[in-house]
Amino acid sequence: MADSGSSTVTTVVAIDGPAGSGKSSVSRAAARALGFDYQDSGAAYRALAWNALEHGVDVNDADAVVGSLASFDYSIGIDPDGYFVRVGETDVTDAIRDPRVTGVVSQIARVPAVRAHLVEVFRGVIAASTGPGIITEGRDITTVVSPDADVRILLTASDEARMARRSLEIPTQSAGVVGRQLSSRDAEDSKVVDFMNAADGVDTIDSTNLDFDQTVSAVVELVTRSRVG
Ligand code: C5P
Repeated sequence: MADSGSSTVTTVVAIDGPAGSGKSSVSRAAARALGFDYQDSGAAYRALAWNALEHGVDVNDADAVVGSLASFDYSIGIDPDGYFVRVGETDVTDAIRDPRVTGVVSQIARVPAVRAHLVEVFRGVIAASTGPGIITEGRDITTVVSPDADVRILLTASDEARMARRSLEIPTQSAGVVGRQLSSRDAEDSKVVDFMNAADGVDTIDSTNLDFDQTVSAVVELVTRSRVG
């Protein structure tokens, strides 16, 4: 638990899962329902990838990517109703979802020094949260960033369900292209962290046969149960 320094104790919730599992939208809605803060960790990897593309940094050159961290001025809104991502003064909330960013983000995320740097950023955001709770979602939150979180959840869904959901989110690309990109990103990301299998003590929510509201309720229920128990 993160001690806010006052009499309140912040409930720390960690949620991991593969692309298209719905973890971002589900985490955000669950945070809203609980009155918690919400931290999207993937946004930081995406913002760093955006920054590299913007400044002509070769994303295949690990040293160059690590070098770009020194001037990487990243900020994120953790109010679920006031979500934004900025690099310096530039609002990149939408730009980091661009397929050209999605296409290179895994190359950035596999660099160990990048991960070490961002893990500290994420922990800092969690420690600074003074509300009743904070939900952080990503790939390695339950295992690396916050293995001592009060609630740890792996949000999964079948390959078919994930591809169908992602395809609805990106109507400009064919379902086949979206599916192939999702599989190859998962394959790349899986080389670095295991987000397909629940670590010890992590609760799995399989959303294959749940709709959005049911999935949010399942998360809220786990958090509520942990707070009473
Ligand atoms: O969750 P999202 O799809 O926005 O994440 C973008 C990318 O950031 C992932 O494909 C992965 O390469 C990286 N990532 C990560 N660890 C996290 C969150 C995201 O490596 N905790």
